[in-house]
Amino acid sequence: MSRTLIRSNDECQICNHSFSYEILTKTKEISGKFFQSTWVECANCGSAHIDPYPTEDNLLKYYSSGYIDMDFAGTTDHHSSHKLHYSDRYEDIVFENYGYSIQDAGYSIEDLKNLKILDYGCANGIFYKYLTHVCGLNHNNIYGIDIDSDMLEACQKMSQNFYSTKQLRDINEKFDLITLWNVIEHIYKPEPALKEIINLLQDNGEILIETPMYGLLANKLREEWSHYIVVEHINLFSRDALINMFDKFGMKCISASSFGANLFGEIQPRVKSALDQIAKKLDFGATQVLRFKKY
Ligand SMILES: [Zn+2]
Repeated sequence: MSRTLIRSNDECQICNHSFSYEILTKTKEISGKFFQSTWVECANCGSAHIDPYPTEDNLLKYYSSGYIDMDFAGTTDHHSSHKLHYSDRYEDIVFENYGYSIQDAGYSIEDLKNLKILDYGCANGIFYKYLTHVCGLNHNNIYGIDIDSDMLEACQKMSQNFYSTKQLRDINEKFDLITLWNVIEHIYKPEPALKEIINLLQDNGEILIETPMYGLLANKLREEWSHYIVVEHINLFSRDALINMFDKFGMKCISASSFGANLFGEIQPRVKSALDQIAKKLDFGATQVLRFKKY
């Protein structure tokens, strides 16, 4: 398939390049309102981004559209919606996913025990819950940051260690580990955000990040790839682009893996399981898990 190089409406916020290839356009209806996003693949870093990037106004309309209350029954993609991700019903699935990703990054629960941990984009505090309830970590060592005031209110009922993104500079702590679970793809300008995050790290501190991996599966599955989420998934990183961006800020990648063959719907469990295992083994999964160390 030949592709046409175009000048993007907005330059790639991952590498600042202006040329790209068009990928696809998707529309989503929420309570009678229509939202549309077109993704392009950056000709320089090989990542994908929504082009033009959603405006503040778009984002406000989208996030106040009641999307969070929508019923996503029928989908089994636990990355595809907040409701699903944060409902009690799926808590066990999310906990299991944390367990695998932590293990894939080379940590044991024991390794995490005495670390001061910050979860950036903590939503309703589900990772805090996982670390304290499932792993038995001391709750005083676990912190969270989020932009959403409703979510924060829920978190603050569990612990005082939750802050809004605006309070980032007021935090008088340095952390051994900062986690970003499926959050960087939602950030319009990931570089300045990352710079602020890294400032909160101890010397030799680490970042554990999980985010969609733009690459082979996305190219082959096209609109079937579950990470093209209208308005929400602004920047979809290629593996190399993610590693390069962290490298610019003095963070070295010490572990990289991926998981999920992105199969949903009516697929025999054994076939799904086999393909998920192959995607993980050959590292072309839909979601990547990277561990970085400050050097
Ligand atoms: Zn780029």
